[in-house]
Amino acid sequence: MADKYEIQEILFTEEQIASRVGELADMITGDFEGTAPLMVGILKGAFIFLADLARRVRVPAEFDFMAFSSYGSGTKTSGVVRVLKDLSTDIAGRHLILVEDIVDSGLTLSYLLRDLKARGAASLSICALLNKEVARQVDLPIRYEGFTIPDVFVVGYGLDCAEQYRNLPYIASVKKLAGEPPAPRLFP
Ligand code: 5GP
Repeated sequence: MADKYEIQEILFTEEQIASRVGELADMITGDFEGTAPLMVGILKGAFIFLADLARRVRVPAEFDFMAFSSYGSGTKTSGVVRVLKDLSTDIAGRHLILVEDIVDSGLTLSYLLRDLKARGAASLSICALLNKEVARQVDLPIRYEGFTIPDVFVVGYGLDCAEQYRNLPYIASVKKLAGEPPAPRLFP
């Protein structure tokens, strides 16, 4: 039977997220003035973050998306990175900003950095809304970081738990509910 979860604690409200996203957009605008960066959203989790960030950045950015295999329906990483959707843009000579919902072990982005470097990107910057620094397994240069969080599983603002909760306007931790007791046995 599938595990059940419920919201435990709101870590960042809608207002806190909007204000931090504005600050990140200002940093990106300052750093990329006079260029046309390609902002790459990592699906599905970054779709809301990128949509909000995109409308606050004041440079003529372009947009593309990539998708990787996810954790499945649970909350633990498999450590396996598989490309499900690739870019549709030639990135040779382009300045890329990789927009990620959360960096956990860092395995996904470190794989991606190697891959995109090999394809000839002029520069690669990471923009992550959440940084779960304590869970990191590889070193990663995160240039634009929204918030650092402890090693808890979070949902909302694009982040899911078994495809639920992505459309919450805030970010919250979830807790696993105790399994339902087994049905009474009527016959031995
Ligand atoms: P990493 O390769 O850094 O371990 O994993 C990054 C990806 O794992 C994120 O893009 C996200 O899809 C998923 N992930 C890691 N931690 C969490 C979490 O706390 N909540 C949710 N919903 N997804 C997470």
